[in-house]
Amino acid sequence: MLIHDFLKKLGYENVHTCNTGKAGMKKFEELAKSDHLPIVLLDYNLPDMNASEVMLQLFNVKSDAKVILETAEEKDDETVKDALRHGAYLYLPKPIRFENLKNVIKILEDEKKVLDDQPSEEQHGVEYFLKTNTRISLKRLAEYSKKQEADVMAFLKELEDQGRVSRIESIKEISCSNCGSVRISQYFFCPSCHSSNFKQGKLIEHFKCGNVSIDDTYKDSICPKCRKEIKIIGVDYRAIENYYICIDCGEKFPEPAQDYICVKCNNRFTLEHAHWVTSEGFALKTTN
Ligand SMILES: [Zn+2]
Ligand SMILES: [Zn+2]
Ligand SMILES: [Zn+2]
Repeated sequence: MLIHDFLKKLGYENVHTCNTGKAGMKKFEELAKSDHLPIVLLDYNLPDMNASEVMLQLFNVKSDAKVILETAEEKDDETVKDALRHGAYLYLPKPIRFENLKNVIKILEDEKKVLDDQPSEEQHGVEYFLKTNTRISLKRLAEYSKKQEADVMAFLKELEDQGRVSRIESIKEISCSNCGSVRISQYFFCPSCHSSNFKQGKLIEHFKCGNVSIDDTYKDSICPKCRKEIKIIGVDYRAIENYYICIDCGEKFPEPAQDYICVKCNNRFTLEHAHWVTSEGFALKTTN
């Protein structure tokens, strides 16, 4: 059975399958305009783009998109770690077990529901977020559950006394320079023209004429500048892996520039202007 059919069977109507990163982005932009929580099941290796590139674009369209990355590679592989750093919500090894997928989507829906709910008198929200995060700060718990830090702290102390929660080391995290929220997402862009329209690629430097450009400009191994053929790697040319190339201005850069965007108030700020907040860290004690 295909994932698509499995999701339909679970009752999800709005399931779309795209075979390329480009087609996926187009569909995503359409869906993001509606008020749905977009959940993206992303294959690490697409024919036209890799997952990190797709995620950069996804988050620029909707900074709170949830991306579940599926890949056959091991989790400790650099590329997967990189993708998680770039904001993937979680990673599922291929082949995806349908049960796992069902659970993940359920958690995402619950999270969304709790975030949308009006604050209630009960403390169930705090417990919920303790359950869904391996470690979480007091600050974040208070914000997610829409409660005062002092109230959350009192409740956590109770849980601690009951042996259900342990206090871990303090957590330092970025908060919005405008509203203080810790729901912050990253935004990547070209350091030269600030466009987010860039791609990852391989650069080729032709030693003889000094031309440096993306590998697909060397059609049939012909240098686009001097029209001579490039022959032996390391001898007359070299490849520089994992570079970013701006599609709008042509700038080439090893790392995209990065800003932060507050999910709550949409304030955009640089790392230098970020406020760092430190608060107590907590983790749910695992039973058994
Ligand atoms: Zn803010
Ligand atoms: Zn640019
Ligand atoms: Zn050349």
